[in-house]
Amino acid sequence: MLKIDMRKIYNFYPIEPAPDPAELPTSGDIYYECLNCTEIVNSVPFIKSACSCGNLTGCDGKLFVKTPESVRVVRGKLR
Ligand SMILES: [Zn+2]
Repeated sequence: MLKIDMRKIYNFYPIEPAPDPAELPTSGDIYYECLNCTEIVNSVPFIKSACSCGNLTGCDGKLFVKTPESVRVVRGKLR
């Protein structure tokens, strides 16, 4: 899979207070940082995307999170 370093394109800001892992928010400008492998995936992924440890996998606008407690919710702004 093509890997893009999202941090080269966006600045990420953690959402405070941290959302409840049971009800993670989703939005086009909201991203999840996987705390296991540090990769960042959009919360509404329209292309097939996944982090390298497999905690976050998604496509067609749906993201599946295996362990929500291992996710930091961040907002991405284009650099
Ligand atoms: Zn991961």
